[in-house]
Amino acid sequence: MSGSISDGAIQSLTDTGLEELSAWMQSHSFNPAHASRVIRDLFDVGSPKTVRRNRLPVGLAEQLRLNFAADSATLAQRQVSEDGTTKLLLRLHDGRTVECVLMPDYRDDRASGCISSQVGCAMGCDFCATTQSGFERNLTSGEIIEQFLQLKREAQAAGRTLRTIVFMGMGEPMLNLKSVLAAVQRIADPQLGAFGWRQVTVSTVGIVPGIDELREADLGVHLAISLHAPDDATRADLLPMGKRFDVNDVLAAADRYQAAIGRITTIQYCLLDGVNDSLAQARDLARLLDGRRMHVNLLRYNPTGLSLRGRTYAPSSLEQTEAFLGELRAQGVVAHLRRARGPDIDAACGQLRRRAAEQQSTP
Ligand code: SF4
Repeated sequence: MSGSISDGAIQSLTDTGLEELSAWMQSHSFNPAHASRVIRDLFDVGSPKTVRRNRLPVGLAEQLRLNFAADSATLAQRQVSEDGTTKLLLRLHDGRTVECVLMPDYRDDRASGCISSQVGCAMGCDFCATTQSGFERNLTSGEIIEQFLQLKREAQAAGRTLRTIVFMGMGEPMLNLKSVLAAVQRIADPQLGAFGWRQVTVSTVGIVPGIDELREADLGVHLAISLHAPDDATRADLLPMGKRFDVNDVLAAADRYQAAIGRITTIQYCLLDGVNDSLAQARDLARLLDGRRMHVNLLRYNPTGLSLRGRTYAPSSLEQTEAFLGELRAQGVVAHLRRARGPDIDAACGQLRRRAAEQQSTP
């Protein structure tokens, strides 16, 4: 939870937890029971601006207006793909920008959202556009919730319901876990956002202490691991964090999470041509997962130009992708291929933000 509230301090309602808002109401001679109603309304209507129109005791709506900022972010850019994928670039109060994405489900009435946890990223994954501009700062829980609300509104406007969210946008959630947990607690609390713990997935590049901390938080959310290679050498070459936490350590942390929380872990594997897509690597991956109840999501790579280390990665061919998927399944692994999303827009993580920054710096 962010800093304490005092008269005149402009903090967003999205950044304010239930206990904090209850205490504020009490100190302003309002019944603290109204706090949960205000936060529920916030999630129901999807915007801090409309909360105040609800029937609140005389004076409370005005006090909320005076003491809390309407938004912690505003929409800076919006791109819509032919496949319906919608990418939003949000501008934060300090001018920094962050991305979130709405992806239509194959069912007409549903959509899923991808949410960022940090501005930029320090993880240095070589194929990722976000990390090229480095790490700027952690997002507050309110800035995370703001993305959720924006995506919820986008889904509603498209005649869909936002059914799931995944922390797989900009940043490494485990390195901003306090804000991520605070946001998830409000989004998924049946008394508040009422989204449901099972509808939330936290994805990590494999920060073992973070996975353990998430387990200890006992929220019951899904865990996804960005593995991208079955062996330490290839993995560490793609993801510098792989030098710190090897594949076995990461999977052991996922085992602990699964044993405690009871949710099947998703293994994210982005197929890169000639890097991690051989059939031998598919068999190595299957060996690693043997005896584990985990499923593999194969991802199509969205090219982002030169990598951090000046390389050019390409997506695996469709034939190789099918062969890799087939080999995994032949070895008994539950695996799926995720459709490429928004190939006609800047859909890859960090791409839209980078393009917006380039446009700003072009005279
Ligand atoms: S892939 Fe994720 S963890 Fe890796 S650099 Fe990009 S945003 Fe960070």
